[in-house]
Amino acid sequence: MSNTINLKIKSKYIQEYQDKYPLIQKEIIENIDDLKEEGTIVNLITTNNKFIGRGYFGRQNKGYGWVLTYDKNESIDTKFFIKKIKSAIEQRNSFYDESEQNITTAFRIVNGEGDGLGGLTIDHFAGYYMITWYSIGIYTFKNMIVEALKQSVEYKGIYQKKRFDTKGQYLDDDKDFICGEESSKPLIVRENNVNFAVYLDDGAMTGIFLDQKEVRKTIRDKYSNGKTMLNAFSYTGAFSVYAALGGAVKTTSVDLAKRSFPKTSEQFEVNDIDPKLQEIVVDDVFNYFKYAVKKQYKFDMVVLDPPSFARTKKMTFSVVKDYVKLLKEAITITNKNGIIVASTNCATFGMMKFRQFIEQAFRETGGKFNILETFSLPKDFTVCNEFKEGDYLKVVFIKKR
Ligand code: SAH
Repeated sequence: MSNTINLKIKSKYIQEYQDKYPLIQKEIIENIDDLKEEGTIVNLITTNNKFIGRGYFGRQNKGYGWVLTYDKNESIDTKFFIKKIKSAIEQRNSFYDESEQNITTAFRIVNGEGDGLGGLTIDHFAGYYMITWYSIGIYTFKNMIVEALKQSVEYKGIYQKKRFDTKGQYLDDDKDFICGEESSKPLIVRENNVNFAVYLDDGAMTGIFLDQKEVRKTIRDKYSNGKTMLNAFSYTGAFSVYAALGGAVKTTSVDLAKRSFPKTSEQFEVNDIDPKLQEIVVDDVFNYFKYAVKKQYKFDMVVLDPPSFARTKKMTFSVVKDYVKLLKEAITITNKNGIIVASTNCATFGMMKFRQFIEQAFRETGGKFNILETFSLPKDFTVCNEFKEGDYLKVVFIKKR
């Protein structure tokens, strides 16, 4: 059983936490040295010992843990997690509809603090569930949370991913498979009637990022027919598969990771598209841009979906520092009236600043543009009003004039 300590909040931060800001930050706590073991239950209190909220200590890239309840009499136990998971599922009932299940079987059922459970997410993949733990602290509640999930859903099997190792290595000291039956490898899931091969038990990632489902659908339904497409930072090629299904004459997927070649071929194949008729390039995107300029390649649509931060042998890429450069290169190889889909999942800046990057890139290349539409997180990725930073996704469809 976890022990409990009281954390005194510095007076200038009290209002913010009374207004239910859920992320516990280091600098707000008077007695920070009392925090020793991750998973410790913490009561946030005022300097006059008035109760504000209860949560846990868990270190993530952001913060020192999350507030889970504002009810002094509520304890953090299996019953608590059942209540939270059931209420999150209730909000997503439409995703479980049988007619919807013919179309989309991969979606998120618990989105961290957006559902009052900061530090963990739960995704549904065709009857299987994947819990992702973002800190050692939340992982200490594993038994309760798995039990709560079992009591809240019908499941074929339950899996987990641990995302709390800071050194970039994936920890597999404890298996990804937790209980039920093991899934096939790959497991075929559906999204907007498109098939995806996912692997629930193969390293840090499953093969699909569920937050882009609306963007992918839009690319297929509105922008692909008869077009050529370049998918930069393509990973398993999800955007390319949608474009091909939407009638693109050819897609080119570029990613640095060697695995992206077989992974992308597989995603095409499970949708009956011949990968040999598409181009899959294992290369640094910036190298590929140079090559495309030299060969005078131009595309009708260019998708840019880089990681927020990446380090390769030759260079480091950071969205904040390098997005304008990335856009400028993309502008050069986009046809007139072509579309650039600019995407970022970087949580440290908002849509305003992202639009400024776009304006700057066009200004510096001397071109005109229109913004056609923008996207943020889909509705299964709930965001709470008290933590707007949770709304990290920004996608802008830009027409080059
Ligand atoms: N667009 C993808 C997700 C991208 S994840 C999707 O829709 O699923 C980011 C990807 O960028 C990773 O696969 C990583 O291998 C790749 N990457 C990182 N730096 C790169 C670079 N300089 N050039 C090409 N790919 C890069």
